[in-house]
Amino acid sequence: MNANTPPPLPSDGLAAALEAAGRDPVLPAETRDLLARAAIELRALAIDADAARSRYRALFDAVPDPVSILSEDGTVLDLNKAGIAAYRRPREEIVGRNIDFLNPDLPRDHMAPVWETLNRGETFVIEVTNMRADGSRFPVEVHSANFDFEGRKSIVAVARDLSQRGEAETRYRELMELIDVGILIQDMSGSFQYANSAALRMIGLRSGESLEDAMRLENWIPLREDGSQMPYDELPSVRCMRSGRIVESSLLGMYHRGRRQLTWISATVVPQYAPGASKPHQMLTLFSDVTHLKRNSTLFDRAQALAHIGGWEIDLGRDRVFLTDEALRILGPHEKPEGLVDVLACLREGERARFREALQRATDGGGFDLELQGMRANGEPFWVRVIGELETRQTASPYLTGTVQDITTDKRDEESLRVLARTDPLTGLLNRDAVLDALEERLADPAQAQIAVLYIDLDRFKTVNDALGHNAGDELLVRAARRIANAVGTEGLIARFGGDEFLVACDATGDPQQPERLAERILGAFADSFRFGKDEFAITASIGVAHAPQDGDRPQALIQNADLAMYDSKRRGRNGWQAFTPELARRQQDRLQIESQLRRAVDNDEFHLVYQPQVDLRFGRVVAAEALIRWQSHQLGELRPDLFISHAETTGDIVRIGQWVLREACRQVRAWQDQGLGIVRVAVNVSYRQFVGDELAERVRAVLDEFSLPGSALELEFTERVLIEDAPSTLRTFADLRALGVVLTIDDFGEGYSALNYLRRLPIHGLKLSQLFTEGVPNNRSDVAVCQAVSGIARSLGLGLVAEGVESEAQRQFLLGLGVPIGQGFLFAPGLSPDDFARRLREETPLDRLSNG
Ligand code: C2E
Ligand code: MG
Ligand code: MG
Repeated sequence: MNANTPPPLPSDGLAAALEAAGRDPVLPAETRDLLARAAIELRALAIDADAARSRYRALFDAVPDPVSILSEDGTVLDLNKAGIAAYRRPREEIVGRNIDFLNPDLPRDHMAPVWETLNRGETFVIEVTNMRADGSRFPVEVHSANFDFEGRKSIVAVARDLSQRGEAETRYRELMELIDVGILIQDMSGSFQYANSAALRMIGLRSGESLEDAMRLENWIPLREDGSQMPYDELPSVRCMRSGRIVESSLLGMYHRGRRQLTWISATVVPQYAPGASKPHQMLTLFSDVTHLKRNSTLFDRAQALAHIGGWEIDLGRDRVFLTDEALRILGPHEKPEGLVDVLACLREGERARFREALQRATDGGGFDLELQGMRANGEPFWVRVIGELETRQTASPYLTGTVQDITTDKRDEESLRVLARTDPLTGLLNRDAVLDALEERLADPAQAQIAVLYIDLDRFKTVNDALGHNAGDELLVRAARRIANAVGTEGLIARFGGDEFLVACDATGDPQQPERLAERILGAFADSFRFGKDEFAITASIGVAHAPQDGDRPQALIQNADLAMYDSKRRGRNGWQAFTPELARRQQDRLQIESQLRRAVDNDEFHLVYQPQVDLRFGRVVAAEALIRWQSHQLGELRPDLFISHAETTGDIVRIGQWVLREACRQVRAWQDQGLGIVRVAVNVSYRQFVGDELAERVRAVLDEFSLPGSALELEFTERVLIEDAPSTLRTFADLRALGVVLTIDDFGEGYSALNYLRRLPIHGLKLSQLFTEGVPNNRSDVAVCQAVSGIARSLGLGLVAEGVESEAQRQFLLGLGVPIGQGFLFAPGLSPDDFARRLREETPLDRLSNG
């Protein structure tokens, strides 16, 4: 058969026979006519059929893929041109052969499943290998369908050459394996079909583990961008499964429980639809590891948030602003700012112009660095540091970028530090530095230079502080500060200057007496005593006043002079005020001179002792001596102890001086005894400062030892100040001294606080009646009363009594009358040099002694 000459149709012969019959004259005309017309009809039909056949042929050959018509048992009935070309054989070689001639790999009963499918009315599709004439093979995908071939049940099979597709697929697969993007293919039930090697690497598949196992949900905790756990429904693949739509670049964390490792991925899930399908049949997940990026951006965000730094951009041309989250947090606007105006609204009114100017400067090329104040929508005030500059990128309109940093806390710290640095933490008053600065400022201004300073010191504060403890002491200071503040009101600056010292600076321009009136008011504020629980304490104040500029035109000088005046006021009896005078300054000058000279006096051997006899008032016999210090200063001449002892106590030099006196007196007693004089005891004055610390008893013992004297050869006179100071070791020192046999006496008894309960507690031997009272007897009634009281106390406590300052016979008689046994005074002798004292002793004849004893 030739494809170009179609086989003659069977109808052709029939038509010719009909024509011939139609021309047979034996037939009736009617029949001939009928036959002729039938022949014509038949010819027309044949022509139609022929046309249909050519059309089929043309179409058949036009199909680019090989098409074959197979009989029911698989015999090839027809093959198109593409088939002839593909198999590289002539048509005759194929038609009439079984299809396994072209498909050598088909199994024996290969037609059974084909018919099974076709009988169901479906198309049978199979991938097979076809063979060419030369024996070479190529893959094809064959689609087979039912076909009625010239009345016979047959099959039309279209084979598509897959060799091209295979190449593309190979390239595609290679690409999938090389690309550094994880690719997962899942069917719509979620089970995994495929994972490329990047995916396997990122998933961390272990050898022997199946992908399905590795991807089991219980191995992973999916996390949202903010670190919270991501619910199952939110997983990108699940969202894709639900919606059938692409889920684009969602960020999620995958925490692997076993490895305890968090990987951040960005995943896109694409559903795949078969041609014409309404539902996807699989989905493709493309994902990349963004842990590094995420970490960087997290760190960056955190760093920004920690440093309270946000970023901003302003496109001035389009009036668009962009603020980072941190910047938004810092500025706290009502709504997200869109234009510059919205940003300016966050700032304080005065600051807006500054910011605008800075932006303007920046557009001209200058950067800026500003501290600005503003307020958040919630009412919180803030301080920000804004840095900005022109963005270099080429844009038509000015484009500025920069940072905004929250410096509110820094500013607050700065402010509170400034306040703290100027405030006394206990009382809340100004502190020393602050008031010095304020004075400095005022004194520098001639219009304000007429000011006065009040230096206030609480009297007896130390005593109360020691008695009640430091908490109560602090409380007392706070209350005292409040009283001073109430008294001063708005008329002066008040500062705490030191422990219990306060300073008031007030204006004296209009009224020069104003400071003194203030001083009175402050003293008045201390009239009421302070209550602490059940206890009540009378605390008074001593105040010194100094006026600028005459008493000092610098803060230090002014304060120093007010202090001096205060000190003087205190010395003259406390609870008063004293204005500074040049006389005070002179005395201060002397004092300073004395103090500086005193320091060297022991080393320079400028001291000596005189000895005043203590005599039996009845017979005038010398029973002991009191050692009295004398200072023959190289610089200042002869000085009495009243002039320098208190200075020595202030400076602390008294301790060394006292030590010298002690040793010198003992040395003298030893010398007298060695000379055969009958002196038994010398009394030495001891300052309260020598009782501070616990060295006094030890020193006394050492000195007694040095001169081989018994304790009874020494008497120590101390004033009631020792009892007031009440150093912790005082009682033990007394006990130790008494144990040494030393005689202990309270000097100037009656002058001080006369805290009688002390007398009972202390292991003392005697009292010395102050010469203040001896002076007034026998005429001054109150002095008489005191003397009577003191002698009564001494007698009832079993203490010895010595009367000081006995100058007259009348006094001696009076004292004798009171029963006072021993006296000391100019009536008998002043302080005598050792030689004079020895002569005096020698003059007392043994006979005198006998008769006096
Ligand atoms: P005081 O211990 O009460 O000593 C008695 C003071 O009265 C002595 O003054 C003495 O000279 C003086 N005096 C004696 N008899 C009479 C008199 O009849 N009439 C008058 N008006 N005065 C008389 P002085 O020596 O100036 O000593 C004054 C104070 O200095 C002493 O008072 C004593 O408290 C202290 N003092 C003296 N020497 C020392 C010492 O070595 N160490 C210490 N810590 N204080 C000393
Ligand atoms: Mg004395
Ligand atoms: Mg005395």
